[in-house]
Amino acid sequence: MKEKTKKFVIITGYFKGESYGLLGPQMAATIINDHTDYEAIVVGVTNEDDKKDLKTALNRHFKNRQKIIGFSSLGGRPDLFDLAGQLKHRGAITILAGPQAGPDYKGETGWQDHPHRFKGLSDCFSFAVHGPAQQIIPFLNSGPGIDVSRFDGVLCRDEHGRIFENLPVPWDDAYLSKVDWQTLNILKDKAFKPLSITCGQVLQQIGCQHAAKQKQIFIDYPWELQKDNPRPCFAGICQKGCSFCDVATDKGYMGAVDETAVKKQIFYLPKGPDGRKIPFELINESPLFKLKRIFELADELSVELSQVNLTLRADYLLKGLEPLEETLKIARKKDTRILLSSIGFESFDNTILKNLNKGVTRQTNLDAIKAIRQLKPEYPAHLGYLKEEGANHGFIHPTPWDNDEISREINKTISMYQLSFDILPNHSTPLIIHHASGLSDWIRKIELKENIEFKRVGTTIGWWQTRDRSLLQVLSYVF
Ligand code: SF4
Repeated sequence: MKEKTKKFVIITGYFKGESYGLLGPQMAATIINDHTDYEAIVVGVTNEDDKKDLKTALNRHFKNRQKIIGFSSLGGRPDLFDLAGQLKHRGAITILAGPQAGPDYKGETGWQDHPHRFKGLSDCFSFAVHGPAQQIIPFLNSGPGIDVSRFDGVLCRDEHGRIFENLPVPWDDAYLSKVDWQTLNILKDKAFKPLSITCGQVLQQIGCQHAAKQKQIFIDYPWELQKDNPRPCFAGICQKGCSFCDVATDKGYMGAVDETAVKKQIFYLPKGPDGRKIPFELINESPLFKLKRIFELADELSVELSQVNLTLRADYLLKGLEPLEETLKIARKKDTRILLSSIGFESFDNTILKNLNKGVTRQTNLDAIKAIRQLKPEYPAHLGYLKEEGANHGFIHPTPWDNDEISREINKTISMYQLSFDILPNHSTPLIIHHASGLSDWIRKIELKENIEFKRVGTTIGWWQTRDRSLLQVLSYVF
């Protein structure tokens, strides 16, 4: 095959020492390689990588060609936003894509009238693309000098500096069937080196069912603001899905991916040393009802699976116990492990779960734990859910609503049900409020009502810190 002369690099955030695949960026690179005359690679950039070395590697990679660099799944990292800005100011075309590309390019609601709010990333990027990756094809096939404002899914500035956006095209299963997992690179010795992945991903559902329906929710004031002066909950916040979740805001629920595309994704997964497909994460927030079908698709392809990782909610786990057991019997016969890699418990307190709009209660979470603990002895090698087995379940702490009483109760639950033994991760995750998540509407309302300003930290809102005081309680109960 003729070697391509034009190059495209997709930069993404990555963790040092890891070897997991990145479905979104690697699917985008595959689409570019298959549909344009550009050769695309993905570069996973860790926090530890030296940006000077990264720039040297980019210069070596592009040589004297026009640099066209996409940025995706940046995890809100300011160092990567700065890098994009520096590259743009030195003549590169920098494109923001991936989750929350649109809101992050445009900036926080009302920032023009509230200077402390997040101003967006339109200075750092030549333009942004929200929605499916294939929208980049017409731009690349037209050449870098083209006016991008006519392409689907593009956000850019007009001649007066105003941002406008075009609607994205719908998701199309034809572009969701193939991922070339060889496209991932890391930075080593000031150059890009291919990284063999040991865990892939298969997309079976776009978005989350919990985010399908909008409803009005009621969220309490942060404890520090109401402890001496109790105030009622805020009404009138319209929310789809969990209030902290960017999948909910970004994608909502767009339904299942066509089975033919899922089958092809399984086909394109690399094989491990034992000849079986490497472990993969099944992207589907309610995976149990269709899990058996994954095994049937593998049979149709005459391939064997080593491990399927599932991310799911506690209530979906309870609803899907029967199909899970049915699939576990198949998994045992085929010696495939099903790992419940992340169950989104998030909290063991009803007030916090309500404020997160999780749609489950403390009891739902405890029932789910009881069910998996009962199931585990029947399938010791083929059902995994323990942290030692690679699971990392969702547990959000601290939150703005923690107080001594809530913490004492959570601590009691942890001890009574021995959650530290098999459920709680080694470290909890602090509540992160992205500027476009449901909770951002809530916190902006508080700012206006109380005449206070919370700190902005990159693309997030620092709920723990107003301009003049810290609101984060140092609790004696540390999880
Ligand atoms: S956190 Fe999970 S369950 Fe909640 S809306 Fe997001 S994807 Fe769905």
